[in-house]
Amino acid sequence: MSAVADHLHRTSSSTPVHPSASSAKATPLRTGAEYLRSLDDGRAVYVDGERVRNVTTHPAFARAAQSAAKLYDIAADPANRERMTYTSPTTGAPVLRAYQIPRSHADLRAKRLASEMWSEATFGLMGRTPDHVSGFFAGFAAVPEVFAAGGKHYAENVVNFYEHARENHLWTTYAIVPPQIDRAKPGHQQSDPTLYAGVVKETDGGIYVSGAQQLATAGVFSDYLYLSCIHPLQPGDENYAIGVAMPMNAEGLRLYPRRPFAQHVDNTFDHPLSSRFDESDCFVVLDNVFIPWEKVFIYRNLEVCRDQWWKTPSHSYGNLQAQARYATKLRFMIGLAKRMNELTGNDGVPAVQVQMGELAALVATVEAMLEAQETRAVIDANGVVWPDKPTLYAVMAMQSENNPRMIEIIRELTGAAMISMPSSLKDLDSPETASDMARYMASGKAGARERIALMRMAWDFIGSEFGNRHAQYEKFYGGASFIVKTNMYRNYDFKRATSLVDAALDLPA
Ligand SMILES: Cc1cc2nc3c(=O)[nH]c(=O)nc-3n(C[C@H](O)[C@H](O)[C@H](O)COP(=O)(O)OP(=O)(O)OC[C@H]3O[C@@H](n4cnc5c(N)ncnc54)[C@H](O)[C@@H]3O)c2cc1C
Repeated sequence: MSAVADHLHRTSSSTPVHPSASSAKATPLRTGAEYLRSLDDGRAVYVDGERVRNVTTHPAFARAAQSAAKLYDIAADPANRERMTYTSPTTGAPVLRAYQIPRSHADLRAKRLASEMWSEATFGLMGRTPDHVSGFFAGFAAVPEVFAAGGKHYAENVVNFYEHARENHLWTTYAIVPPQIDRAKPGHQQSDPTLYAGVVKETDGGIYVSGAQQLATAGVFSDYLYLSCIHPLQPGDENYAIGVAMPMNAEGLRLYPRRPFAQHVDNTFDHPLSSRFDESDCFVVLDNVFIPWEKVFIYRNLEVCRDQWWKTPSHSYGNLQAQARYATKLRFMIGLAKRMNELTGNDGVPAVQVQMGELAALVATVEAMLEAQETRAVIDANGVVWPDKPTLYAVMAMQSENNPRMIEIIRELTGAAMISMPSSLKDLDSPETASDMARYMASGKAGARERIALMRMAWDFIGSEFGNRHAQYEKFYGGASFIVKTNMYRNYDFKRATSLVDAALDLPA
């Protein structure tokens, strides 16, 4: 049996544990503390022109690293065993559900519920948690034939990496979009063809990659980077048509996070979200990074580079997680709006309830579309469950328009509530200002501290630099909206629609 066929056999739900499972070595679930220790690995992260010594202690990243570590503690907690893990087909030990290749609708639902539990721990504010790209790799491993089209060993490599990541509970992020240097020309016609990340040298042991790629969200906190390309490539662009994995501390890999929001924050009260949940978005530079052949899954192959996203369920699994996370964030958002109305005393105003009704309708639509991806999922010839694509792309396509609308409703409802707050926590505590604060910052429903805490949180969510980064994230994390709408176009059943028109045209006179 080939490694690929063997893998498919092993991941079948009818044979959950491979007969040789006892010989395979299980790695206990990773704890938050183990995860944090692993981040101190010499990775090259640059902030303000300086190399960060250790991301777990640097003020820009330390609290977010703690938030990420909590995810591993949640998964390792025996009380969450069923929700967060499933049985490894190779060892029989618990591994993260994020890596599960669903074989039934119940499996798919279980994956979503695991993502939901993690997203609740971050209020949906960290998008690229370890269950995002693991979903892509589960999708790759579910249809390794796509990679075998470039050579059987590439399929074996991707399956082996998937299994390695699954068995060791790893966190992979990805950079799959070329940098915006000159979009008027393809990669190979840039002023220097090594500007976009691609192969620059091949040896018996592996390949070397150089150039830049955007935008590895959570790269600072991950174990591995998957470097590939989702943008359309054309003949001549073969050097960029690759799919390779590298550890975050690979020599020559440099991460340039955008301006970190937590760096100059001195307390969590005034910046409750940006201080804890800034996952960072990293511009990636590769300077002759060596990739051994076993970590090469796609090599100079335009078709496979494209097909990995669309002919496997990778994009659907990864974005099912993204939607589970988004639905959680929207519940948090509407909860914030409701609490603000309560504190300002507007909650009972009929016009406010109409606005909140519109907000709730948009949130409920996302929630229902998430479940529809499961209930309308299809099972392929290998018994692998694919979430429903039209549903996924419909909700993603509307996200770039509905998200700003939702934020707009909240801005409208809250007036100056988020702005008429004192400068910082110090105003609450200073003997000179405390009595004014207690007298004028309180509301009918809450004391000053409680009211300021809520309004600070709302501002961090909507108005701060962190909040605005989120607005950009929700617009672009799944690609520019014209691309998402093109995905929708490719997946909608237009035949059924046009046949109705044809039938109407054929009505007897
Ligand atoms: C906060 C954030 C986090 C991200 N995280 C990740 C990540 O983790 N990993 C990753 O790989 N990428 C990530 N991305 C990158 C994301 O995938 C890209 O931003 C996205 O694919 C859009 O590409 P672009 O930014 O190059 O925009 P472009 O492709 O340059 O498009 C920008 C705009 O130009 C217009 N436009 C351009 N071309 C056309 C066209 N042909 N037709 C119509 N209009 C057009 C549209 O208005 C479009 O919105 C992230 C982006 C953001 C903002």
